[in-house]
Amino acid sequence: MTVAEGLVFGALGAVLGSFANVIIYRLPREESIVFPGSRCPHCRASIRAWDNVPLLSFVFLRGRCRACGAPISLRYPLVEALMAALVVAVRLRFSGSAPDAAGLHAVTAALPLISALLFVFLLVVITFIDLDHRLILNRLTYPGIAGGFLVAAAQGRASPALIAGLGAAGIILVIVIVSRGGMGLGDVKLAALIGTFLTSPALTAVALFLGFMAGGLVGVVLLALRLRGRKDPIPFGPFLALGALGALFWGDAIIRWYWPI
Ligand SMILES: [Zn+2]
Repeated sequence: MTVAEGLVFGALGAVLGSFANVIIYRLPREESIVFPGSRCPHCRASIRAWDNVPLLSFVFLRGRCRACGAPISLRYPLVEALMAALVVAVRLRFSGSAPDAAGLHAVTAALPLISALLFVFLLVVITFIDLDHRLILNRLTYPGIAGGFLVAAAQGRASPALIAGLGAAGIILVIVIVSRGGMGLGDVKLAALIGTFLTSPALTAVALFLGFMAGGLVGVVLLALRLRGRKDPIPFGPFLALGALGALFWGDAIIRWYWPI
């Protein structure tokens, strides 16, 4: 990847991050994603286009609303920077085109890249809504699973996507039933989405394993620091999402490391 290409994908990621911020804020509040345009959550003043440039405007406005001076949450530029980094990482991991592909072949060659971009976008949005509201919305998981399955089927990977999605959902469902609390049906649907996008039972197993490791580790630390009591539920969606990212980027390497065939 050239520097110019990196900048283009970074900018695309920042714009996607800005869109993710809108969805994270509005979808759980039942507000329209499209209308009205962005407003300051404090004074409701409309945010002008040049004050709404991802990452840059936050720096120029020094993190304050131009109209009322209220501080803008650091979350917004953080999500934009995170998406920018993820999109560049996805581009590095999944080359978007075959060198001499044209027409339909070019589209087919770009499918893994398109699938991974959609996947990381959904994971970021679902993670932050879960952190804010302890909710994993059907309005994200259902279309996400459907979209992931379509992209997998277009690559001739319908069966492994189905097996991985159903398998992951089944495992989490059993845990939900046995553990009674902590995890919910939203996590089952998120697991289905993860399996569908990873289109591989082995990679999905890695994702769940990494998710449980991360969740367990953070849970133990929070308990030890007395930041959370034993009874306070910690949303598990963000850890599933983290495990999914780990599997997306390093899953193949982890599998080869465990089973060097
Ligand atoms: Zn304001």
